[in-house]
Amino acid sequence: MTEKTYTKTGWNFDNSYARLPGLFYTHLSPTPVQSPKLVIFNSMLAASLGLNVQELQSQAGAEVFAGNQIPEGALPLAQAYAGHQFGHFTMLGDGRALLLGEQVNPQGKRFDIQLKGSGPTPYSRQGDGRAALGPMLREYIISEAMAALGIPTTRSLAVVTTGKPVFRETVQPGAVLTRVADSHLRVGTFQYAAQWGTTEELRALADYALQRHFPDVRLDRNRYLALLQAVIKHQAALIARWQLVGFIHGVMNTDNMTISGETIDYGPCAFMDTYDPATVFSSIDRKGRYAYGNQPYIAGWNLTRFAETLLPLLHDNEEQAVQLAQDELAHFGDWYQEQWLMGMRAKLGIANQEEQDKALIQDLLGMMMKYGADYTNTFLALTFEQQTDTVLFGHPEFAEWYEAWQARLKRQPQTQAGAQQLMKDSNPAIIPRNHQVEAALESAVQKEDYCVLERLLAVLAKPYAHSPEQQAYAAPSEPSEQPYRTFCGT
Ligand code: AMP
Ligand code: MG
Repeated sequence: MTEKTYTKTGWNFDNSYARLPGLFYTHLSPTPVQSPKLVIFNSMLAASLGLNVQELQSQAGAEVFAGNQIPEGALPLAQAYAGHQFGHFTMLGDGRALLLGEQVNPQGKRFDIQLKGSGPTPYSRQGDGRAALGPMLREYIISEAMAALGIPTTRSLAVVTTGKPVFRETVQPGAVLTRVADSHLRVGTFQYAAQWGTTEELRALADYALQRHFPDVRLDRNRYLALLQAVIKHQAALIARWQLVGFIHGVMNTDNMTISGETIDYGPCAFMDTYDPATVFSSIDRKGRYAYGNQPYIAGWNLTRFAETLLPLLHDNEEQAVQLAQDELAHFGDWYQEQWLMGMRAKLGIANQEEQDKALIQDLLGMMMKYGADYTNTFLALTFEQQTDTVLFGHPEFAEWYEAWQARLKRQPQTQAGAQQLMKDSNPAIIPRNHQVEAALESAVQKEDYCVLERLLAVLAKPYAHSPEQQAYAAPSEPSEQPYRTFCGT
């Protein structure tokens, strides 16, 4: 690769996606906005990308993050993709987002820089191409919380307000989010290629995905099978991480599932309070397709759609291609279970393996469900031996379980302190609780006061610190008559 000079702002763009066949995108500039104002900026992330923090914190940054100024070297485009939305296949694409290009950081790592809310595109369908401030700040908070929890995710670099309202159920301030991702390749990108591209275009996409995300598997005998396997493995690990912290994505359509294994598209997502696998927050998910407990199955379903797109590349003989894909997909359940079990053991301070661990874990979860226990706080209480004040902890059934757990902890070489450290490192002191997120958004959107949001971001940034100021954020919301509902906010 040729040496590149960084611009004053630190931009160092390459545009490898734009070198794919033209089928995959439409070149397009963002629609300028009236009066861009930077309302939040992620200086740590900016620094890690090699960007000049001071320069971008000024009005010059607001102009870039609003799409009014195209940074040097960027080549904006809307990406084409398809997807199964709630089980129905449809053509989609970036309807309100544009990829500016890929920032190559000083370590040589490549990141997509995307503006979300940047104006209409050929893929907008009926939409206005814009985004509202509340949902963009929500994506900022939750994606950054996920990153701090150590869960693979797209990141949020900045939010600007546009000065122009958007019309949803209510009139809201318009905003643009700058999203950073390992890439925006989705299962839906492959579905688009399989449906409307030639085999050669599909192959170009698959080779690109391999090169970008799994460069080590390129020399394998059947590299497309290796691609399938890598994506299945990464997704199994990702979904296990979601389950372990009680994260509910809310809209696991195939266009919202990445090839890289990053969490993407924070729409109606939310964290579960009371443990219940049937938990659904999204107002549009009436049948609970994307409920907490269904997420692993849906991931498997989505991966099957992914495997289908690769069939022409897996083998010349269709039957054999199907067999290869099926054999690979069959591992998903085991890989997921393995990751989940490992994470659950750690949450209980268990560092070695015993056959009965799964039953021990399931017994606890069963009781949490039965006695309406808060998911995050139950594990916290166990970590700090503060089993007081809840129906669960007062129950004789729990006392029995507790004894079995303590006996289990003694059957490992770790000391008690070692087990507790493992629990501290595996059980977050804080998750973005729905009422805390809402309070931060309300203050920002209604009063243009970002203090609540900044304070929330600060405590969410170190979820395993277990610091005193985090305690104020640990309480679940007061039970209310209306269950918490989230909206796509598009
Ligand atoms: P999402 O639910 O955010 O995954 O979006 C699904 C599809 O709808 C994507 O193709 C988006 O680009 C598109 N979309 C969502 N909101 C809008 C909007 N306001 N204007 C145009 N397209 C949109
Ligand atoms: Mg999406």
